[in-house]
Amino acid sequence: MKLTKSNYFSQEANRHYMSNSQFKSFLPSYGGCEAQAMAKINGEYEDPPNKAFEVGHYVHAWNEGTLDDFKANNPNLYASTGKTAGQPKTEFKHCNKMIEILESDPLVLKALAGRKEVIMTAELFGIPWKVMLDSYQPILGEDTGIFADLKTSKEMGGKFWNTEMGVYENFIHHYGYTIQMALYAEVERLVSGRENWLLPHMVIVTKQDPPDHEIIYFDYDVIEQSLHIVGKHIERVKAVKSGMVEPTRCDKCAYCRGTKKIKKIKHFSELSLY
Ligand SMILES: [Zn+2]
Repeated sequence: MKLTKSNYFSQEANRHYMSNSQFKSFLPSYGGCEAQAMAKINGEYEDPPNKAFEVGHYVHAWNEGTLDDFKANNPNLYASTGKTAGQPKTEFKHCNKMIEILESDPLVLKALAGRKEVIMTAELFGIPWKVMLDSYQPILGEDTGIFADLKTSKEMGGKFWNTEMGVYENFIHHYGYTIQMALYAEVERLVSGRENWLLPHMVIVTKQDPPDHEIIYFDYDVIEQSLHIVGKHIERVKAVKSGMVEPTRCDKCAYCRGTKKIKKIKHFSELSLY
């Protein structure tokens, strides 16, 4: 299957290819659920519309240089009635602030330069994967090339409890961004035929007022560790996705709550703490 911008997020593409987000959607340690992941792949469940996604798309359209088209295609971003008719709604007015902050920082523009929204596919762990690099600079003179991912986030800090490990972790680990960067680096390495990985970068801008922003880079050690984590879980994910193994329900996510049938009455002490 040939991937393009218009079919990259399609159900057909998600059936054929594994992706960073699909992989994590199977793993409870990243807030995933096998039952929900399969329901999505089979077209039986869709995530509810989410303002956070729209903010992300808005800022990505800026990075791609297609913000005018994006605005024209999303009239819902603008107030249609009242005194503010024709003006961007409050949350999207704030997107412009986020973009201004990025635009006025020379190092951000340097990190986000290059080709935009580059789609690549490669076989990894015996299955086809798809990635989309927000910005791609494989050649940087004498230096190792880089690619960059643009993220919008509620805030920069914050600690998240990891139930499995019994430790607090930062949002980079919590959302599995190291896994994403490692998968992107490895797919790019395979596609380019280069021996070494590019250096993954992440440009983060927060939704705070005024927005905070940061550029983070990842090293080869964390790429190796993260690919090892993918390797540890991938056989189970493959078995479930191919239908060989029944998906497990997490009984907590929106899909499981919406389709729940109680099988057993619980003793009051059985309710979990997390
Ligand atoms: Zn679930």
